[in-house]
Amino acid sequence: MSSRLQEKVEEILPRVSKPARYIGKEVHTLNPERAAQGLRMVLSYPDVYEIGMSNLAVRILYETINRDERFSCERVFVPWMDFEQELRKNCIPLYSLETFTPLCEFDVIGFSMGYELLYTNVLTILELASISLAATERQDEEPIVIAGGPAIFNPEPMADFIDVFVIGDGEIAIIQILEELLKVKARPRKEKLIALNSFDFTYVPALYNQGTHRGFLITRVDKSVKKRIEPDLELLPFPRKPIIPLTRIVQDRITVEVNRGCASGCRYCAAGFIYRPVRERSVEGVFDIIQDSLTHSGYDEVALLSLSVGDYTGFHELVRRINERFASENVSISLPSLRVNSTNIDILRMVKEVRKSGLTFAIESADGLTRNRINKPVDIGQLMEIIWRVSQFGWRLIKLYFMVGLPMAEKEDERIAELVLDLLEASRSIQMNVNVSVFVPKPHTPFQFARQIDVEEAERIIGNLRDRFSRTRVHVKFQNPRMSLIEGILSRGDRRVARLIHEVHRLGERFSSWDDVFRYDLWEEALKRLNLNRELYNDYESNRGTPFTESGSRGIPFPEPVSRGTPLTGAETGGSASTQNLDTATFPWYFISSGIKGSFLKKESERAKKALLTGNCVHGQCAQCGVCQRGIKQTLFQSQSHRGEDPTEYEVSKKPAERSTRTRVKMLFQFKKQGLYRFISHLDLLTLFIHLGKMAGIPFSYSRGFNPKPHFGLPFPLPLGVESEYEIGEAYIEDALEESVFCDRYNSQLPVEMKLARAERSQLMKSVASFPFFHDYMFPYSHDIEDLLQKNIERGKIFDISPCEFYVVQKTLVMLRIGRDRSIKKLFGQDLFVRTHIQRRMLWQECDGKLVSFFKEK
Ligand code: SF4
Repeated sequence: MSSRLQEKVEEILPRVSKPARYIGKEVHTLNPERAAQGLRMVLSYPDVYEIGMSNLAVRILYETINRDERFSCERVFVPWMDFEQELRKNCIPLYSLETFTPLCEFDVIGFSMGYELLYTNVLTILELASISLAATERQDEEPIVIAGGPAIFNPEPMADFIDVFVIGDGEIAIIQILEELLKVKARPRKEKLIALNSFDFTYVPALYNQGTHRGFLITRVDKSVKKRIEPDLELLPFPRKPIIPLTRIVQDRITVEVNRGCASGCRYCAAGFIYRPVRERSVEGVFDIIQDSLTHSGYDEVALLSLSVGDYTGFHELVRRINERFASENVSISLPSLRVNSTNIDILRMVKEVRKSGLTFAIESADGLTRNRINKPVDIGQLMEIIWRVSQFGWRLIKLYFMVGLPMAEKEDERIAELVLDLLEASRSIQMNVNVSVFVPKPHTPFQFARQIDVEEAERIIGNLRDRFSRTRVHVKFQNPRMSLIEGILSRGDRRVARLIHEVHRLGERFSSWDDVFRYDLWEEALKRLNLNRELYNDYESNRGTPFTESGSRGIPFPEPVSRGTPLTGAETGGSASTQNLDTATFPWYFISSGIKGSFLKKESERAKKALLTGNCVHGQCAQCGVCQRGIKQTLFQSQSHRGEDPTEYEVSKKPAERSTRTRVKMLFQFKKQGLYRFISHLDLLTLFIHLGKMAGIPFSYSRGFNPKPHFGLPFPLPLGVESEYEIGEAYIEDALEESVFCDRYNSQLPVEMKLARAERSQLMKSVASFPFFHDYMFPYSHDIEDLLQKNIERGKIFDISPCEFYVVQKTLVMLRIGRDRSIKKLFGQDLFVRTHIQRRMLWQECDGKLVSFFKEK
């Protein structure tokens, strides 16, 4: 634990937005003492905390690694730009959240790469950690940089920066890699890399040479890097004590993966191919995880994660069991996007029992022919019926997702507008949100060589749609077509794209996936400086015959993966890149095997042209995609012969509104907020107390209606960054809980910096904040502060109370009392406020002209 580094960070935190992103200290994270043991890894999803912490892969890997006593795993996310500036200005290295250890001191840094537009963020992390950006320049003592995740199924655009790519499922793979590293820990870097390249699911770019081939800078890799597939999800670790974030994250709920892989075969969807085959957890297994996770987190929402949750063979049974068990505890279910054809009205009727958020349908295309081409048939009549029925169940929001620029699609704007307006007509009272994005062809799909429409074309379609919806109640959101264009380059790029990423990062590009800060001009500038033609990556179809096609043949090849060979240690052979034989290197990701046969992708591409559908292999015949072989196969919860409609009748044990017949008691309690926890905002603190209260078994009383919330309040908001010894909370509970038991339960969950000092029942049902009150603050004395306080007394801004408005304790500390309508932050002004370490010492209520405690003094 680096306390000096932590002190330096604490000095800059008051100056940045959302400081809780950078303090760690969440419940269920690694104990700092345990963190220093064994081989040390730091794991990142390269985006801001709120997004990184929502990533299930990070949570699973964190749990998996920390279960093993030989290793420890901490986390780091990307600092927002204000924090990045402060780190640079103050020469503070980027650090791990658990122990404030500089990243360069770790043995391994791991990135979970979910999305190509995160690539520049990886460079930000490495640079702020003072780790050499170029993998080939790293020294022995620098960490090994590992990357995995769906985006790196074409690793080449990041190959200059990453030491080891891990392809496929990561749970067992990461342990094998760490074990291997443990064996070679004392060896030179090059030997470590050679050892790590010995797995068939790893790729170490530094060990291979490159050469230009048919217009691309291709790496000659003479082994097929095979996707690692874990056959049985139930044997893998899954976090049952979720980390409780200290600031609201994007997926602020329990997320449970019900299955991995998708058999739908949507031809545009990379995840649908690279995660195959489908492997389902049992209903019992999922239910067990949900039960444990709810107990250990206090969440009231469960998300069932799947690429196609409606295809999960235990879907009905699982939803019914969750509802029967948890509806009376106000736990709701959230579903990812549903396929219309697999959506069952009964499911929606069950899911709506507790809380109705929006329903999402990814239609993708408004045209039936195009939907067939992309292998995503949608029965529009059925969709209309669903929308009409769910409006009766009380849903108020439908979200529809469309793509434009799909292969061979025509008049997409007109067709989307017509369909949405028809659906709007059917929905009547439902709000309809439409999201339109631009199709980005992805490697390892039947459309991997398809043309991506250019920005002008996308903008024309989007402009037309904007006009068509301008006077309707449809809310339309368009993804920035320039971002899609860059995503396309990064998705199908070769090694030169690594230089593009480096250049654009150097120019100042940050957070490319954030529309509001994305800088297309910087990408254009970087392309120009490197003399890179983006058409090469965006328009593979037009490049037919130039970059990839064997001379004399037409069309784009779909070669089978190259055979497994001895890893080529190009750096050691000294062979010149340009003289390497690159005959098998037809496109940049040719050596990565997703398990899907090239011939299958080619066949699917041909079927797309003819608008022929290929069936779903969970519900029908195997389509011979090639993934299932040598012990790898689909694992389904229910076999086809046992699948049938689940009974539509079920019992929700007790509905929330019927429940509350017990006497409601108000508990007033005093607690402190100290140390790094002073950087949690008021709203986040409120949420944290509710989580911890539920985990501690506090029987909260709930509001009524379809969005029930615990009756809980923190009536005296404390400015962010101010510590307090004396905070007050109000909890309304439904049980005759002893005051000491209330305190003990809370304190069993609270960190030492926030413990409760006391609790007492209050007869007063209205909030204590409705009375006149005063607060006392303490802070270090300085002349600036004395001047400021004197001026404010003269202006009557400080409450005048005998013997004095403020007094100096031993010429070092100032005590200040102010009234309810005064804000310490406003009084100080931003500049002095962030420079001063302030503590709240006391809260008083005014009673008959006297200041008295909110609690009965004994
Ligand atoms: S091999 Fe057959 S069953 Fe297995 S994922 Fe492919 S299509 Fe489905």
